[in-house]
Amino acid sequence: MAGPDYKANQDKDDFLQLLAALGVDFLLSGEEKVSPISCAGKMICLFFSANWCRPCRTFTPQLVQLYNTLQKRGEKLEIIFISLDHDKNEFEQYFKTMPWLAVPLNTELQKQLCGKYHVDCIPSFIPLCGDHILKEDDLIGFIEDYGAEVFPFTRKRMQELKAMDCAKRVEGRLEELFGNRGYNYVISSHGGKTQISQLVGKTIGLYFGAYWSPPSRSFTAKLSKVYKEIMDKTENHHSLEVIFVSTDRNLDEFKLNIMDMPWLAIPYEDETRGDLYRIFDVKAIPTLVLIGADGKTSSENGRGLVCLYGAEAFPFTEERIYELETAVKKEGEELPSNVEDIKHEHVLKLEFAKAYVCDFCKLQGRFWAFSCHVCDYDLHPTCVQLTNNV
Ligand SMILES: [Zn+2]
Ligand SMILES: [Zn+2]
Repeated sequence: MAGPDYKANQDKDDFLQLLAALGVDFLLSGEEKVSPISCAGKMICLFFSANWCRPCRTFTPQLVQLYNTLQKRGEKLEIIFISLDHDKNEFEQYFKTMPWLAVPLNTELQKQLCGKYHVDCIPSFIPLCGDHILKEDDLIGFIEDYGAEVFPFTRKRMQELKAMDCAKRVEGRLEELFGNRGYNYVISSHGGKTQISQLVGKTIGLYFGAYWSPPSRSFTAKLSKVYKEIMDKTENHHSLEVIFVSTDRNLDEFKLNIMDMPWLAIPYEDETRGDLYRIFDVKAIPTLVLIGADGKTSSENGRGLVCLYGAEAFPFTEERIYELETAVKKEGEELPSNVEDIKHEHVLKLEFAKAYVCDFCKLQGRFWAFSCHVCDYDLHPTCVQLTNNV
């Protein structure tokens, strides 16, 4: 520990000396002036930001929350705002939203500090902790994702957090995935509560979606149908549960959204929602992540499996998917590669198609079709009537 501590102190001394060299003998704390020496004995973090910068305005409230949490916890931490605002008025207005200290607005000082700490974009958050976090480490992103958990802002801490997420993702243990934010239950559209512990041992589908997304709404309809089929098939075993993880914009939209859902949802107020998006690295909706009855994540492409195989895919295990793939392959191998059908003038070729509509019976088909490339004509293998000359 001696190494980093020594370096941290040196970083801090360098900063305080730089202030002194530039003739800055006080910092601002609200309307008051305080001596820079008041930071001695605390960890100093520099916050480069400006009111005119939209990402800064989005980030600042999150940093305020982090700061307040750490103050309550009694951590010896001070943040010092270094403003890149254009005028005093803007600066003062922005600084009013911050519970920490600021260096007085001074263009020369700004330039020197930006140069010394290699700040070329804002918001920039630089902890003087002796552990040089690189730009690629994206500390701002970490703070947005994890809040006060990132303290003490070292690379080691960031790696720990990533490793914890990875373990949660791989192990898929429900009590660890949910219930960290004080909610130990999920809800149904009628307001019923189900304890997390009651879900252990079931196949779980984590459904990430939102009402504002049309693909998400149409997947809700598709999944509802498949869900009901699986429930009917497994009768009273209830071995599957879907849990909706919402990114609806507000509580009203969320309520509207879950009204049509026959499954459970994480309460809108529960911040676990954000954690799950992060843990499973969900970048687009709709997404369905499947966790097997053994608690291991079995697929992050549940949406694809549901769309391709429907209720047949249950219980979504690797073995089940392999069985289905093998059956489809075998079906294809037993079919001829070309046919001549009395209803069509061209030779039809055997093709694999995830979904199509048969031009004879007008019903949906999947996996295998006999198709004409010239006319965009498709037939179910069972709808083919061979001509006599084959
Ligand atoms: Zn047909
Ligand atoms: Zn044709």
